[in-house]
Amino acid sequence: MKAIFLGTGTSAGVPIIGCYCPVCASHDPHNRRLRTSLYLEAGGKHIVVDTTPDFREQALAHRLPRVDAVCFTHAHADHIFGFDDIRRYNTIQDEIIPAYASQDTLDNLLRVFNYISTERVAGFYRPRITFTAIDQPFDIGEVRVTPVEVQHGHNTILGFRFDSDGRSLGYVPDCSVMTEAAIDAFRGSDVMILDALRLRPHLTHLTLDDSVALLKQIGATTSYIIHLCHDLDHVETQAKLPETMHVSYDGLVLEW
Ligand SMILES: [Zn+2]
Ligand SMILES: [Zn+2]
Ligand SMILES: [Zn+2]
Repeated sequence: MKAIFLGTGTSAGVPIIGCYCPVCASHDPHNRRLRTSLYLEAGGKHIVVDTTPDFREQALAHRLPRVDAVCFTHAHADHIFGFDDIRRYNTIQDEIIPAYASQDTLDNLLRVFNYISTERVAGFYRPRITFTAIDQPFDIGEVRVTPVEVQHGHNTILGFRFDSDGRSLGYVPDCSVMTEAAIDAFRGSDVMILDALRLRPHLTHLTLDDSVALLKQIGATTSYIIHLCHDLDHVETQAKLPETMHVSYDGLVLEW
């Protein structure tokens, strides 16, 4: 399995517009965070989880060769607004690309991107996508994908567990509360990636302390925190984490 952290920042990114705090003004490149998204290569498949408003820049920066499937966690703007740029991969691959999400997220995607279907329309350059609503484990080639419901404020959204050839990855970018069932679903994964917005409480996200406590319960071999806001300096935050937990950063590549 290979995972590329395409973006690791909260919805506004880091730095945020018009802010000159020590993190936003920092010269440490680890403190520059595009919106949160992951590119996963496993079993010969290339999967994007969420298409952020920065998707085009992310695809260019990492020279992403192809997209075999898109999995969406939820339909907040910071997770879907780059979806239109998937159309380049329709052209490169000359094929329709599947997208997977909960029914609720699909309804919102189809409302926002109401021009997207499987059809080629003469004179227009549009993505060609098949949409599949998921609430049970499914396969993308050899990769088993397990959707896992988590609370994100008042919304129930999806995290994903990916299993392929004895390797596993858990991914939950936005979360405020995780049930025992969700913790169980991720337990024992090789790598776990989890929301940690900031130190102070937030209605729809985990704090750093919440996240560390959950990651201890999940007990992955290695864990990474993601979706950080400008309250968290990369180096200072890393110093607070237990040995198996790490602060992610844009462009981080894991291979195992
Ligand atoms: Zn988000
Ligand atoms: Zn700032
Ligand atoms: Zn969200």
